[in-house]
Amino acid sequence: MTCITRFAPSPTGLLHLGHAYSAITAHDFARAHGGRFLLRIEDIDTTRCRPEYEQAIFEDLEWLELTWETPVRRQSDHFVDYAEALEKLRALGVLYRCFRTRSEIAEASASAPQAGDPTATQDAPILGPISADEEADRLERGETFAWRLSLSCSQDLLGEKFTQLGFRETGAGPNGEQGAISARPEACGDVILARKDTSTSYHLSVVHDDALQGVTHIIRGADLFDATPVHVLLQALLGYPTPIYHHHKLLLGPDGKRFAKRDKSLTLAALRAEGVTPADIRRRVGLPT
Ligand code: GLU
Repeated sequence: MTCITRFAPSPTGLLHLGHAYSAITAHDFARAHGGRFLLRIEDIDTTRCRPEYEQAIFEDLEWLELTWETPVRRQSDHFVDYAEALEKLRALGVLYRCFRTRSEIAEASASAPQAGDPTATQDAPILGPISADEEADRLERGETFAWRLSLSCSQDLLGEKFTQLGFRETGAGPNGEQGAISARPEACGDVILARKDTSTSYHLSVVHDDALQGVTHIIRGADLFDATPVHVLLQALLGYPTPIYHHHKLLLGPDGKRFAKRDKSLTLAALRAEGVTPADIRRRVGLPT
């Protein structure tokens, strides 16, 4: 089996050293295994993504001497694909409409069963659908809604398979999780799969595209480890294979905090302008030159 890896940045800012680590790791893994390396532009959030940042991604990666296959998939060109995947899930009966505003969610979360569970976030509460009457009312009024993935309906549909969801981790999660990991999507709540303002979400489009592009090894930062159970659940629901996951450490800046797009001095563009070389970047992030 040919291994396929990918680097999937969102063009919401300039790439920094953390991105370089991720991109080089995925690239070198594919090259070392005679595999394929893909670049994917994850720009579904059309309000935050900018063409100049997309352009900078290509320039930075070329400068790092990475090579990838073309054409590059740009998610904003494929909203129709995500709508189809969403429809498939809707037909399975595992989605519900969520009209709630942020403040309604905060209020409902406080009294919901998982209140007090530190892993439950306000963005992903288990609230369940509203009554059919209220839903009809709000639809009638033309209120906008998001689509949430119902954990309880997914569990009913998958039965035993739901409890057996899992994935192989060849890197490490934030708490050193490795090897065979059992996926517990319950911790993520009923996540949003299509937002009020965007007809898809990160979870849906990333899972769809990784399957479509045949990605076998997902190499990405440990910050996305906690989202993986949702991805594994979506793969089971949509009939997609579960790839091998390799979550890597997050690089820390001089202040001991994670690199963020706002750390302008550590962007690859700024380092390049200072005369830093691609080999320096590899050394600096602790990868072989
Ligand atoms: N687009 C995501 C980001 O820029 C990464 C997605 C992934 O690797 O799964 O954080």
